[in-house]
Amino acid sequence: AVPVQTVRRAEGGAALVSEAELPSTGQFIDGGFRPSTSGATLDVVDPCSEQVLAQVADGTAEDVDVAVAAALAAQPAWGRLTPKERSLVLLRIADRVEENTDRLVRLESANTGKPLTVSRDDIASTVDTFRFFAGAARAITSQAAADYTEGHLSVIIREPLGVIGVVTPWNYPLLMAAWKIAPIIAAGNALVIKPSEQTPLTTIAFAELVADLLPAGILNVVTGVGPVVGARLSEHPDLAMIALTGSVNSGRAVASGAAQSLKRVHLELGGKAPVVVFEDADLDDAASGIRNAGFWNAGQECGAGCRILVHESVADQLTERLVKEISSFVVGEPGAGDDIEIGPMVSRAHYDRVAGYLSRAREAGIRAAVGGGTLDGPGFFVAPTVLVDVPDDAEVARQEIFGPVVTVETFSDEDEAVTRANSVPYGLSASVWTENARRSHDIAARLEAGTVWVNSHLVLATEAPWGGFKGSGYGRDLSIYALDDYSRTKHVMHNHSR
Ligand code: NAD
Repeated sequence: AVPVQTVRRAEGGAALVSEAELPSTGQFIDGGFRPSTSGATLDVVDPCSEQVLAQVADGTAEDVDVAVAAALAAQPAWGRLTPKERSLVLLRIADRVEENTDRLVRLESANTGKPLTVSRDDIASTVDTFRFFAGAARAITSQAAADYTEGHLSVIIREPLGVIGVVTPWNYPLLMAAWKIAPIIAAGNALVIKPSEQTPLTTIAFAELVADLLPAGILNVVTGVGPVVGARLSEHPDLAMIALTGSVNSGRAVASGAAQSLKRVHLELGGKAPVVVFEDADLDDAASGIRNAGFWNAGQECGAGCRILVHESVADQLTERLVKEISSFVVGEPGAGDDIEIGPMVSRAHYDRVAGYLSRAREAGIRAAVGGGTLDGPGFFVAPTVLVDVPDDAEVARQEIFGPVVTVETFSDEDEAVTRANSVPYGLSASVWTENARRSHDIAARLEAGTVWVNSHLVLATEAPWGGFKGSGYGRDLSIYALDDYSRTKHVMHNHSR
């Protein structure tokens, strides 16, 4: 039997946020809010009710230009502050976000439909990101070396880049913004950020909350659509860098838009993480690991453990455990209770995309051991799904679905497992499940992914770098490596011989 979850609704359709808790509809430029030069607005939709939740400014290239000018004027003084001074501001930002956790959690869930538990994790991680970079900014040390060349002293220093453009996605709206904002300002830069047009509310609320903590012009938020606001940021001649978290197609657009001005490009793109389960793995651990890693945030997660490659001798045993795990999910609106685990897809367009993958898989004869289709509306809900006996070349095994769907394929030896795991164009993350230490080291070394977990998946640490290989982009978020990415290296050589 294929159990199909029903969608639990919030009692009486209670709203998660009141009108008064919605943020400003303007652009946050030079320390204050102003309407878009177009005067036009964009609807922000609640993905559970499909009703308009709020409206935000539909930004223009001119809005971007005004924001960049404000950032250029403000950045030099910010860049000249001591690391300690900037660090104290980041710590105050972290405190301010933490004090407003409750509102931000509800706002994030109202806009994305994600369960409150996921939003709580997002906001707690946002706070931690600012605290980490507050400390990291003070830990940067410069190198000095005498005598690379006789009679000369080399001093190697890190400088801010200047003003950086940032474009963020809808899956973790505030957290992905924090992953950029914190290292960028910690390193002494200013920025102009464009949140996803589908989920701009928490980024705007953040700007409101920290407006009195940062000098005007250091943080600017311009809302609007990618091909207008994102494209202008990519092309803007005065920006030193553009950083995008988003899909591969947007990554291509940003990189080619940036080419003319030769600005730095930082791309955190999609993933299709293989979960390689060997015959000697603890299958209970693997199944519960996949329950979390494949379905956190309803699978709308770039590191989602969604492509399961399991040794043929234990495939049936793993599938049986997975069916049990995945059938037990509680699906519903965030307001329906703290035990909700799976929310809707973020938008109608994304729901149609995921539903399309499922219906084409069905037509191709791929069997769903659990789920396999959409759930009753209103709202963009998709049933948590396990697709089994999936051929290696199936579309669902190769492309990023970005929904609550995992596929199961089998392999017969280590070499085949590695070749198949590496055969997709993505290289963001992967996991290997085995009790054999030689095997875990060897397979981790051979997997082409920026992050490899062993007997785990999707566990992140702010101290550790996150970013992809191959089609998943380049550059690193989090960790000291992000500070490197958002600064430039200068060598000053002193001649002290006389
Ligand atoms: P998306 O590419 O559709 O949108 C991301 C952002 O890019 C949005 O703000 C959008 O407006 C903007 N954009 C769109 N076209 C643009 C253009 N031509 N020029 C400039 N900007 C443009 O992605 P999404 O659907 O919001 O997010 C999901 C994608 O993000 C998935 O592929 C996912 O894997 C990826 N993602 C990656 C990471 C990571 O850390 N690697 C994290 C989260 C999400």
